[in-house]
Amino acid sequence: MKSWRDLTGRVALVTGASRGIGRALALALAEAGSHVACAARSTAALGETTAAVEAAGRRALAVTADVTSAEDVERMVGQVVAELGRLDILVNNAGAVLGRAAEKVSAAEWRALLEVDLTGAFLCAQAAGRRMIAQRSGRIINVGSIFGELGTRGFAAYAAAKAGLHALTRSLAYEWARYGVTVNCVAPGYIRTDFNRAVLEDPKTRAEILSRIPLGRVGEAEEVGPLVVYLASDASAFMTGQVIFLDGGQVMAW
Ligand code: NDP
Repeated sequence: MKSWRDLTGRVALVTGASRGIGRALALALAEAGSHVACAARSTAALGETTAAVEAAGRRALAVTADVTSAEDVERMVGQVVAELGRLDILVNNAGAVLGRAAEKVSAAEWRALLEVDLTGAFLCAQAAGRRMIAQRSGRIINVGSIFGELGTRGFAAYAAAKAGLHALTRSLAYEWARYGVTVNCVAPGYIRTDFNRAVLEDPKTRAEILSRIPLGRVGEAEEVGPLVVYLASDASAFMTGQVIFLDGGQVMAW
């Protein structure tokens, strides 16, 4: 049986790796044996992640890139291949959120959110996918959300972008299966990060959120790592096009 946690010698690229879930995923991949390129818009903030990857004994590369820029994305992927030798695993984790009543969202805000959460993921998948198609192997793991599946209030653009990302996962998986490239999506529920700190610190909102999670708690960023490592490993070779919820049971019970 192929080990689900052996990524020895692989090269991974994690977008949005400067904090939160992205940092935890970069570290989990490094602990499984992968070298890791860590990307975000702010280079300074990547230092802690790259130091953790190196402390795990792997090569780390900090890449400054805005995933909404096709030029940045192409340069980022080119830099990873040039400096780390190849690209086996892409984790499309960079994301933003917009909490606002739908009737108050401007066209510019709507577009900006979709640019990061959906178009950015597509551009990264496309640039990485071209290399993976050429080498006839690759793993793309998108970070979706329970709100790509569930109806919600105040997060229409975010929910639409994540639903789009779930659909993109299936279409790319179908299109690139013939090249040995798998595409899956990890869709977390509430995970404690800067992303939702304010929401979770408000006692009333927190109680409301917890009442909807059968396991009665929010998740930690470290809890997302093992699933991503599995999806990046040889052990998951027969799985593609899947959206997997990691949410304390929230989608199941909604
Ligand atoms: P954080 O806000 O903590 O981190 C977001 C990361 O994305 C940062 O590293 C940020 O770095 C980077 N980023 C943002 N915009 C861009 C951009 N345009 N180009 C490149 N990098 C960018 O978020 P989380 O760790 O909480 O979330 C990570 C992912 O998980 C997101 O896709 C989110 O939607 C998803 N998710 C999170 C959940 C949660 O409860 N936390 C639940 C479900 C899904 P910088 O600002 O320097 O660019």
